[in-house]
Amino acid sequence: MKREGLRGARYVKNAAIVVAAGSGTRAAGHGADTPKQYRPLAGRRVLTHCLEAFSAHPAISDILVVIRPGDEPLYEEAVRGLQARLLPPVHGGATRQQSVLNGLRALSALHPDMVLIHDAARPFITLATISDILARLDHVPGAIAATPLSDTLKRGADGLIAQTIDRTGLWCAQTPQGFRYCDILAAHEAAAAAGKSDFSDDAAIAEWRGLAVALVEAPAANWKITRGDDFARAEAQMRQSYAEEIARVPMGESRAATGFDVHAFEAGDHVTLCGVKIPHTHGLRGHSDADAPLHALTDALLGTIGAGDIGDHFPPSDPQWKGADSGIFLKHARDLIARRGGRIVNVDITILAERPKIAPYRDAMRARVAELLGINVDRVGLKATTTEGLGFTGRREGLASLATATVFLPFEPGV
Ligand code: MG
Repeated sequence: MKREGLRGARYVKNAAIVVAAGSGTRAAGHGADTPKQYRPLAGRRVLTHCLEAFSAHPAISDILVVIRPGDEPLYEEAVRGLQARLLPPVHGGATRQQSVLNGLRALSALHPDMVLIHDAARPFITLATISDILARLDHVPGAIAATPLSDTLKRGADGLIAQTIDRTGLWCAQTPQGFRYCDILAAHEAAAAAGKSDFSDDAAIAEWRGLAVALVEAPAANWKITRGDDFARAEAQMRQSYAEEIARVPMGESRAATGFDVHAFEAGDHVTLCGVKIPHTHGLRGHSDADAPLHALTDALLGTIGAGDIGDHFPPSDPQWKGADSGIFLKHARDLIARRGGRIVNVDITILAERPKIAPYRDAMRARVAELLGINVDRVGLKATTTEGLGFTGRREGLASLATATVFLPFEPGV
């Protein structure tokens, strides 16, 4: 099925394979024989950091982890709370190359357009690097994260320098390494069929098949945890990046408030609820269009910023509001919140009435409220109930509405 993607192009399905099948023997020691991809790092597992990065990227639709047989309990612990975009894990093989091939084969039913292959021991992968690689894959069959070589290279022999190697044009390959899925699967299958099992990364297999692979400059911070004593450095780096992330989050608070409104039925042939005209045996009496749910919601929104009620802002004695569209009142409350730097988190409305039936109009009403407030429709709750024949609504003398609103407001200095 084709549909529009984020940038208006054809929707492209991108998968990520995270290779976590190593036994991590070089990183053992320090009292831990847990493979390095499952060791704790700044309060999470190394693998979990990788998965969080891919899960948070809007262009990655599915994530597959390749694990060592028997590591299931470690895997389950590392992915707890993250399952939403994870495919069931698959077992790796004797080599990294075989593990990647197992992962690629496991994606055959999904058949993604692009696949990014990443080593679980690189927990500092950023969303920007993932984006940069995906952007290059629009033009080149392969694209890998890499850093230009900065150290001078020496070839040694018997502890002495035998040669200084010109580093011009040399890069250090990292992961993720991204490819068009068909290409890299075919390349891996061809390598397996040819009995070639000594490729050091996926780009090398692509190169062997003659595919062009682009170098995408990534931060040197995207390094690979290799030895046990790398963990102290990794811990400090991860805590530093947390601190920077927290510093970017605006400080603020959530506030909730409620509203309630009633209008009496009178002669007429329709009512207006949440901005939607609904045919009925009666109308609703009021100075404006008597849209009780929008009035209740306006009061709830005003309540979150202590801004009084609807009557304070739009006095019923003022003739200019006669027959007015109540959407005007709601937009006013929305604008007052926006002026405070606030954001509407969600709203929820309950209508109490024996008649008219609300259900056939519910989606249109939610859509109209979402449109008026400039929020996604999943942030708008709406339901209706009768009062079992009791009270003024039960006697069909009028209609009532309750509303709640939650907003997020940034802290103001000194308040
Ligand atoms: Mg009212």
